[in-house]
Amino acid sequence: MSDALDAALARATDTRDVVVGRGVLTEAGRRIADVLGQGPYVVVADENTWAVAGEALTASLRAAGCALAEPLVFPGRPALYASYDNCLTVGERLGDATAIALGAGTLNDLSKLASHEHGRPYAVVGTAASMDGYTGFGAPMEADGVKITRPCPAPAVAVLDLDVVAAAPGFLTASGYGDLAAKIPGGADWILADVTEVEPIDTAVWGMVQGGVAMALARPSDLAAGDPDAFAGLVEGLALSGLAMQAYAGTRPASGAEHYFSHLWELDHLGADLDPPLSHGFKVGIGSLAMCAFHEVLVERDFAAIDLEAAAAARTPWDRIEADIRDTFTGALADNAVKETRAKYVTGDDLVARLRPLVDDWPSVRERLRTQLVTSAELAGMLAAAGAPSRPEDIGLTAADVRATFPRAMYYRSRYTALDVAWELGLFQELVDDTFTRLWV
Ligand SMILES: [Zn+2]
Repeated sequence: MSDALDAALARATDTRDVVVGRGVLTEAGRRIADVLGQGPYVVVADENTWAVAGEALTASLRAAGCALAEPLVFPGRPALYASYDNCLTVGERLGDATAIALGAGTLNDLSKLASHEHGRPYAVVGTAASMDGYTGFGAPMEADGVKITRPCPAPAVAVLDLDVVAAAPGFLTASGYGDLAAKIPGGADWILADVTEVEPIDTAVWGMVQGGVAMALARPSDLAAGDPDAFAGLVEGLALSGLAMQAYAGTRPASGAEHYFSHLWELDHLGADLDPPLSHGFKVGIGSLAMCAFHEVLVERDFAAIDLEAAAAARTPWDRIEADIRDTFTGALADNAVKETRAKYVTGDDLVARLRPLVDDWPSVRERLRTQLVTSAELAGMLAAAGAPSRPEDIGLTAADVRATFPRAMYYRSRYTALDVAWELGLFQELVDDTFTRLWV
């Protein structure tokens, strides 16, 4: 195991072992038994993941002396959905057994929540490098037409065999690539929250998640070609993301405003009727592109020349902001956005104090941002080489749709990002306009 994974595991709260490497599926039984005992276990799979690794996982568990209950194998088509009904199906099958999810996002989430509801830990054997949720806590789950992330612990053991994940369909790898690309603009958002002291960076956690991102994203064409050795960085990066969230007890290390674009498009059911449905990572990839473009025009500005007292005096009063939020969203989403935006809204001296370090130290802040970021053109090239969407049209949107998502992403969550910095400085609209007139014509 790499030093980075070792260090991250030492701080993780739920996960006790992560196994990444070529051929490690044969070790799965022993590694799971070392942490969770001899079972009995229920392997939770679908027809696709069972065909890929069901027999090998079963053999490995038997060789480790584990008792096995009948596996639960969902149909392979249509794509399994993370609905609470399916979670109950997993729970019913569990009985006294411990779940081992054999699959990716959905099977992991269903097993995670079902296990939590039965008060026991679980393990996951990943079959695709498709998202960074393997080692994350919480499970996004749909019930009665509403999707919310249900709190539940991350797996005790995660096994990710590079030969297995490299053989997965290419769109799954491309999705994981899009999800990991979020760490570029998401990290830049955290730098801005750090400088303004809204949410200081935890250096150890930062190192876990950002340390290997550049390397993990460095070989997009080899990933698209299914070269198992190229997957080491991507898979480890995805696993580290989840471990960093455990260590931080929050999602900040893995996501910034780019994820809000994805969440909002998900709420609009974008691509939900496709088979398979448009993935999290594909939406996040375009969100990351949007935010890299926004950061790109932001760092070109000279914040040192900004008159903060004038910016604070020009700040929109709360009642007008609330009215705008209620024009932008409807129903429960509007109430939620009002609450979230209120939590980060400050005025007067408080606003000047928050932005002061950004303006006073602008040359060094700008340097930190430039080191963190890639240009939107570079990122588009990387995404395309990985086989991921690299233009709004690739996920069924227009540039105008992406543009219209900017204010919604700003209001959507209390998390402080580049969108808030621009807004507080009175530059939000200008920078959005710049983003689209110059970069996404
Ligand atoms: Zn994500």
